[in-house]
Amino acid sequence: PLILGIETSCDETGVGIVRGHTLLADALASSVQEHARFGGVVPEVASRAHLEAIVPTMDRALAEAGVTIADIDAIAVTAGPGLAGALLVGVAAAKGYALAAEKPVYGVNHLAAHVAVDALEHGPLPQPAVALLVSGGHSSLLLVDDLARGVTPLGATIDDAAGEAFDKVARLLGLPFPGGPHIDREARAGDAAAIGFPRGLTAARDLAAHRYDFSFSGLKTAVARWVEARERAGEPVPVADVAASFQEAVCDVLTAKALAACQAHGVETLVIGGGVAANSRLRALAEHRAAKLGVRVRVPRPGLCTDNGAMVAALGSHLVASGVAPSRLDLPADSALPLTTVSV
Ligand code: ATP
Ligand code: MG
Ligand code: FE
Repeated sequence: PLILGIETSCDETGVGIVRGHTLLADALASSVQEHARFGGVVPEVASRAHLEAIVPTMDRALAEAGVTIADIDAIAVTAGPGLAGALLVGVAAAKGYALAAEKPVYGVNHLAAHVAVDALEHGPLPQPAVALLVSGGHSSLLLVDDLARGVTPLGATIDDAAGEAFDKVARLLGLPFPGGPHIDREARAGDAAAIGFPRGLTAARDLAAHRYDFSFSGLKTAVARWVEARERAGEPVPVADVAASFQEAVCDVLTAKALAACQAHGVETLVIGGGVAANSRLRALAEHRAAKLGVRVRVPRPGLCTDNGAMVAALGSHLVASGVAPSRLDLPADSALPLTTVSV
């Protein structure tokens, strides 16, 4: 079946088209530059940008795949979580196209789509798998027995998301928004062992209560204090070393907890998804540590880790193949859609 996916949960308008696990089109329009001067995504600006971009992006994806809407078997759309106004644009568009072309529509979970997208690159996900989901708004460890029907949360951040921590630390280092890719680049020239930043929730007593949870706000504060102390002393801030040491602290904890979960659950596959999965150090460290334990790591290419339409199409394709029923045509956009609800 030919599945079209629509993504508008944040600042990326994405339309992807897949057949099975084959990616045929992945059209993207981003409003990220419009938000950069505010240092974060402005919801009203994002909604308006989606409104302007949705039809042209749809047309581009169809042209790229060389198909028409009549050829599409089902339309998948991000129903949540995300920005309410932004989600509404995608959901309304999906309903419009579905109604006009008489196609079934699947309202899907954006976070599950971040996990599902890997199948486009590496084929069907062996299950059970552990998924490390690290994005701008979320950081979770999940046990995936059957992605079409639900996921079991093992742990999550108790404060900031990993991507949020990257963006905040980038900001205090004077790097542009979104900061993740800039920290990644700066860190290449830095020494990851230069500064010993704290590893959140890894002390023995924290592990007892928060074995698979994360905390990044203490790390962010530690970086801020360190940078302030330098500035107060009138000394230059070694941006590359701070970036590398901060990045190491994040990646160390993420990979250690993800692999501990694999071992505890006897799982041989770790899939990593979400924008922070694009991070070069996270990818390398996960590979390195997993290899020693006989765990296979699957991470899609960086362009599929950040928000896009292909990931929504990939999850839609998996739902159709698994015999999951479509959503009702009056499906809601739910800004707080829980992680455990894969399709509405
Ligand atoms: P969510 O998926 O939780 O709703 P989102 O959709 O805004 O949030 P994504 O697009 O999945 O988030 O990810 C964006 C985040 O990924 C940003 O915080 C960004 O800084 C981070 N990011 C992107 N590339 C990298 C990288 N190379 N290293 C670290 N972080 C990165
Ligand atoms: Mg984005
Ligand atoms: Fe996302």
